Amino acid sequence: MKMQSNNVLLLIKLLTLNSLLVLSASQDFDFFYFVQQWPGSYCDTKQGCCYPSTGKPESDFGIHGLWPNRNDGSYPSNCDSSSPFDASKISDLTNQMRSDWPTLSCPSNNGLTFWGHEWDKHGTCSESVLNQHAYFATALSLKNEINLLQALQRAGIQPNGQKYSIGDIKSAIKGASGYTPWIECNNDSSGNSQLYQIYLCVDSSASGFIECPVFPNGSCGSSIEFPSF
Ligand code: AMP
Ligand code: AMP
Repeated sequence: MKMQSNNVLLLIKLLTLNSLLVLSASQDFDFFYFVQQWPGSYCDTKQGCCYPSTGKPESDFGIHGLWPNRNDGSYPSNCDSSSPFDASKISDLTNQMRSDWPTLSCPSNNGLTFWGHEWDKHGTCSESVLNQHAYFATALSLKNEINLLQALQRAGIQPNGQKYSIGDIKSAIKGASGYTPWIECNNDSSGNSQLYQIYLCVDSSASGFIECPVFPNGSCGSSIEFPSF
């Protein structure tokens, strides 16, 4: 009798180990970067931008992507060519995506190319957690959880072409959201460093924000421009 219950315990342990291994094999990442972009900084470059065919996006941060990442800083990409972007799967989301995930690339277009690129490159690497509809719906709902522009404006940081300290920008977002962001900068055509993208981290089940396990590389300079849009 004693022997039998030990065997049952062993079997349970083996089954648990097995399911953990299956899980780790299908999920080759540790967390997500949720990346939002200031449209004014995408446009205020040598290359410039084109407004979407539906018109100029509102003056707000837009989604760039939800990117599976590893704790060592590397990331998987283009994981499943058998699951290409299919716009018909997200037709109920495209209205919201036009405002919250605007394309700015040229020539002017309807956004499907940008969204398709994000799904094919990044989304296919988190399919074990989020199917295509869930991938886009999750990103949209994460954007609603933390209002970055409001957090900055309440701290007196406005998109008015002035320069702000990176420390002040980080504290404003940490204060409002509870999470430490990473700031990515780009350069305008005169070489000024400007606030381009804000990174926050999300746990590997995409259930909510976490502190980032690792930050990307790169530096901004201590004072950066926040261009108008
Ligand atoms: P990723 O490959 O996901 O790292 O994203 C980089 C690509 O996305 C580059 O080709 C960028 O030009 C493009 N990209 C970034 N922001 C936008 C945007 N708002 N609209 C269209 N393409 C964009
Ligand atoms: P600094 O004004 O460059 O001395 O940076 C102020 C704080 O922001 C320090 O804690 C830096 O480590 C941090 N920091 C510097 N660059 C970035 C960045 N691009 N994103 C997030 N934090 C940064």
